[in-house]
Amino acid sequence: MKPAIAEGHVVTIHYKLTLDDGSIADQSFGGDPLVYLHGAQNIVPGLERQLAGKQIGDKFDCQVPAGEGYGEYDPAAEQSVPRSQFPPNVDVQVGRAFQTRARNGQPMTVFVREVTADTVTITANHPMAGQRLNFAVEVLDVRRATPEEKKHGHAHGPGGHHHH
Ligand code: ZN
Repeated sequence: MKPAIAEGHVVTIHYKLTLDDGSIADQSFGGDPLVYLHGAQNIVPGLERQLAGKQIGDKFDCQVPAGEGYGEYDPAAEQSVPRSQFPPNVDVQVGRAFQTRARNGQPMTVFVREVTADTVTITANHPMAGQRLNFAVEVLDVRRATPEEKKHGHAHGPGGHHHH
């Protein structure tokens, strides 16, 4: 009997992510598939939810609203900083991610939203925040996670995490 995707399973999928303007934002077809631990929030919640119950060989299209994808766009999460605050050797480009620290000291990722000669607008919003995500998915493999994978909260082995 083929296992159905549920919490505690390692799932291998190929996917194509298309935005509403028709542009392909990301895809694994033609490259390495995505391996993730179901129920561990390794992937956007709306896609994880719609993968539940699927089996090896299933192919489907699904839509994920922004709220279940990379979040609604929050204009308050934007900040303009002087270009001079970035080291001159750093290539500041729109969409580029930087690691920084939030006021509470937690590490956070910010993205460059706009660059002018003097200022750089950074935002905590993911570049795909506010966008509906359209996925085409093919389920390649489903297996039970090992106790170690469950403890770590991610998949190990080919396509998964490697520890040294
Ligand atoms: Zn691990």
